[in-house]
Amino acid sequence: MKERVAGAGEGVGSPRSRVRSELALRRRRRETIQEKSARAKAIAERLALAYPEVKVPLHHSDIFELLVAVILSAQCTDEAVNKVTPELFRRYPSPAKLAQTDSGDIEKLIRTLGLFRAKAKALRRCARQLVEEFGGRVPSTMAELTRLAGVGRKTANVILGHAFKIPGIVVDTHCRRLSRRLGLSRHEEPSKIERDLSRLLPPDAWTDFSHRLIIHGRRVCYARKPACASCALSELCPSQRIFSKIIAQGKPGARNIS
Ligand code: SF4
Repeated sequence: MKERVAGAGEGVGSPRSRVRSELALRRRRRETIQEKSARAKAIAERLALAYPEVKVPLHHSDIFELLVAVILSAQCTDEAVNKVTPELFRRYPSPAKLAQTDSGDIEKLIRTLGLFRAKAKALRRCARQLVEEFGGRVPSTMAELTRLAGVGRKTANVILGHAFKIPGIVVDTHCRRLSRRLGLSRHEEPSKIERDLSRLLPPDAWTDFSHRLIIHGRRVCYARKPACASCALSELCPSQRIFSKIIAQGKPGARNIS
């Protein structure tokens, strides 16, 4: 395959041309862990420039509300969750209040969300566990959080990172897709992707990096048609050429190489 010719102002030895040469080299041989880590750090820097502020888009005023909102956000949009939580939080402002209610009452308030019956049950069980096992407080370790109903590693990492400032990598569908496209992980399983990313970046970068990947997945690196032409990561992304070619030829199936 022919290498792209450097454009005006991108002569041999320019930073852009050096990046391209390095990527071309990497395509011919396997990237070392040091090279991959350096590339991951460069990606993290560019994402930080593109998205300086990292905020959880789920409305909440304390850690308990954040936990409830993250449990509700599974397989639905943050906007949909933000519509139901004001009334939910008004009626059940503490784990004790939520634990006392019937899951049918919770269902009525969250029925616009997917999986609302299972989520209502999980919320009530989780609230009971908080009251009975943790004195009504949200715990601050991965082991304790993942014992709670409705809480997996993804939810636990959001709570750890944003509520307790304990580094954690949040692997949702966007983070998973981008980690693979960017060549930072070959795995499908979130726990393995989490492990791969944690080896490439220092702990103090984990929380913000994974959240920025999620933002980038929502705004630029779409599942079906990634906007590679306007992507700030294109020079550091091994998938850029493949997607550009597929999209230029109008072929469907960009999804197949996610
Ligand atoms: S270059 Fe394309 S595939 Fe790579 S991260 Fe950007 S949008 Fe996604």
